[in-house]
Amino acid sequence: MKVYKFGGASVKSAEALKNALEITIAEKDNLIIVVSAMGKTTNNLEIILNKYYKKIDFSDDLNNLKSYHLKIVSELFDKENQIFSEIENIFSQISDDLIKVESIENYDKKYDAIISYGELISSLILSSFLNSCNLKNELIDARKIIITDNNFRAANVNFNQTETAINKFLDFSKNKVFITQGFIGSTSDKQTTTLGREGSDYTASIIAGTLKADELVLWKDVEGIYNADPKITDNVVKLNEISFREATELAYYGAQVIHPKTAKPIMYKNVKLIVKSFVNKNSTGTTVGNFAHKISPMVPITIFKINQVLVTLSTKEFDFIDEIIFEKVFSILNLFKIKINLMQNTALNLSLCFDYNPNSFDGFINHLKQTFIFKYNTNLTLITIRHYTDDTIKNIIKDKTIKLEQKNKLNAFYLIEN
Ligand code: ASP
Ligand code: MG
Repeated sequence: MKVYKFGGASVKSAEALKNALEITIAEKDNLIIVVSAMGKTTNNLEIILNKYYKKIDFSDDLNNLKSYHLKIVSELFDKENQIFSEIENIFSQISDDLIKVESIENYDKKYDAIISYGELISSLILSSFLNSCNLKNELIDARKIIITDNNFRAANVNFNQTETAINKFLDFSKNKVFITQGFIGSTSDKQTTTLGREGSDYTASIIAGTLKADELVLWKDVEGIYNADPKITDNVVKLNEISFREATELAYYGAQVIHPKTAKPIMYKNVKLIVKSFVNKNSTGTTVGNFAHKISPMVPITIFKINQVLVTLSTKEFDFIDEIIFEKVFSILNLFKIKINLMQNTALNLSLCFDYNPNSFDGFINHLKQTFIFKYNTNLTLITIRHYTDDTIKNIIKDKTIKLEQKNKLNAFYLIEN
């Protein structure tokens, strides 16, 4: 059995969906397809949600999103097909959900309720399209099989309940192909949740791990995992093999390769993970596995994480940065769900670098003000060079203004001004 994950780019147009059909038809094994929202749908739904909260008119944005999906559908189905009214219905549901006024305290919950429509629409279209091409498949609502807590926007999976549900609903004695949504789940009392941006990889891996699939393929618009983002850097090298541990580290530092949580559910289950191109289907891609070596070929890897903020704080009473101060700072960070990417301290100063999130930053700063004095810089980029050489470092950081740097045996980090 195999699990395929189609990312947003692999289902972004009618042409892409036809390609997905070709890939699926070629598969002889039992198959589960996990699908992301089409193209930039998730970002567009985020824009709509933010306008809703700021009381800015979002009707054009919502109409554009509907037209985008209807255009794809019109290129794939006859005019009479019921998919048209199904899409209309989903969009009226979204409109209805956005009429109700919701307080900003419920932002995360509302986020999951609205953003999840992206995957609900893409999976419906893909499933209907494959069925209309005689590729019989069953659409399973991921909210029946991915059961989580209510930590909205970054929900934690309840593996016991999830595994039971996966085994129950993905029943291969009934069907050979199942389609479900990536990224979304549900609490046991049926509130929609999401697993964090780019979480479809994680969904696919939970399913592959539970069912002990032979293979999990992440179909991407690039040939595999590279030593730098091929969309922004020239002369990149494709990795043929990478260990689970190494792939997780890279993902954590911001490489857009796989979701950082992807490895855990499959790494002890003998599932082969392959990242490969949906355009160049016959290329080998990158295999992620339990290799003794970290990567092959061995080359320095460079990762850029944009939109970083650096906060440097000290106490108002000239206290040392000790365990008590750490505890205070971390409890505030935890309150605002802020995850630290890089940190450094001296006797009196603590510097923290994390992703800038306009929704939580002001609240965080206001909280911090009560106990600490601080300054901050936004609009920074965190560069991680793993397996660095002096030459790579020299090349990459030349003429950059460095705000913070750190080096250990494997990694060199530079936080720079843009
Ligand atoms: N559609 C979601 C996102 O863009 C999940 C995913 O693509 O994996 O973050
Ligand atoms: Mg996506």
